[in-house]
Amino acid sequence: MNFHDLRVNADRLHASIEEMAQIGVTNNGGVTRLALSEEDRRARDLLKQWMIDAGMSVKIDDFGNMTGRREGTAPLAPAMTGSHLDSVRRGGKWDGALGVLGPLEIVRLLNEHDIQTARPIEIVNFTSEEGSRFEPAMIASGAVAGVFSREFVHSRVDQNGVSFGDALQQIGYAGEAENRPLHAAAFIELHNEQNPLLDDADLPVGIVEGIRGITWWNVAVTGESDNGPTPMTHRRDALAAAAEIVVGVREIAQQTGDGATGLVGRLRNEPDLVNVIPSKVVFSVDFRHQELRVIDQMIGQLHELIDTVKERHGVEIEAEQLWLSEPTPFDSTVVQAVEDACQSSGIPAMRLWSGPGHDAKYMQAVCPSAMIFVRSHRGKSHSEDEFSAPDDVEASVNALLHSVLAIASQP
Ligand SMILES: [Zn+2]
Repeated sequence: MNFHDLRVNADRLHASIEEMAQIGVTNNGGVTRLALSEEDRRARDLLKQWMIDAGMSVKIDDFGNMTGRREGTAPLAPAMTGSHLDSVRRGGKWDGALGVLGPLEIVRLLNEHDIQTARPIEIVNFTSEEGSRFEPAMIASGAVAGVFSREFVHSRVDQNGVSFGDALQQIGYAGEAENRPLHAAAFIELHNEQNPLLDDADLPVGIVEGIRGITWWNVAVTGESDNGPTPMTHRRDALAAAAEIVVGVREIAQQTGDGATGLVGRLRNEPDLVNVIPSKVVFSVDFRHQELRVIDQMIGQLHELIDTVKERHGVEIEAEQLWLSEPTPFDSTVVQAVEDACQSSGIPAMRLWSGPGHDAKYMQAVCPSAMIFVRSHRGKSHSEDEFSAPDDVEASVNALLHSVLAIASQP
């Protein structure tokens, strides 16, 4: 058999995704499988059994990250792939699970065809990617990358006061620090897109070049409360001033183009009464782009707008940065390996950047990394309406298969 003609067993792949989706299934066909919950334990037990059945060894690290390993023929660093089995409340069945079960199908296929690779192949199930129960998101891959300390991670508490460390013990998945998924030759994460770019382009698969940067700002506008009949010339209306900035944030992103986004998602108005001029408005600003330079440029324009609005309305405005997540470009060699894999196996694909964060963002700090996306119908995710078509899912796992084979075959 020609190597390039190798294709995953789609029926077996879909059956595994469906079986996993029964753990924590919701009334509308979604999934609720919060990190380190009883559902998460059952999902882990099933994955572990499937890995052992596929001849893999399974290791657990001190954050509960699970790594299944298929040995290679040479003493080389592994080709690593993986994602997460936890979900948000009422999430979809592909988010995360595809990036764990797709690789499992690849190992089953290689076993079936008795194909040995030079490098070992490792599959990781990262703990608590979503951050729905324990914040922040991607905490366990972040810990592997050294961004969060073990103490920080284990002391996170859920809304019932249960700590990450205790929950990990309770479900029996507290392992050893020496089992952390470090030392890979490369890491590739397969995930559903969670955005509509592939759907708009009518393509099944995306070659992800990196994860876009995000910055959050807090803007506080202070004016003066006064009665409704106050003449228009005598007002210091905080809401009228804020409104100009809200519209401006949208315009800044639109004028920047090139995929830039801007959003005001939270706004508080005081005193919020029908006949009183607002004295204080506090709102958030969210800007995203793949280049830090462009994010900085949008923030610069926001400050210029603030100065203009201050003068026009006679109000005070304070703006402070709450959070900055810098853009993470993936490794160009790994991205190229994914592109080559798509081309050589005839899978229609395009390059794009990820809006949401993923475990691969932190893994890029550990080893050369990249991602593969499968089309999300209308971009929906973190919802029971999440859907990726079976043919698309199959194509994306075939793209991963050939990417992983290329890396695992390298001396
Ligand atoms: Zn996910």
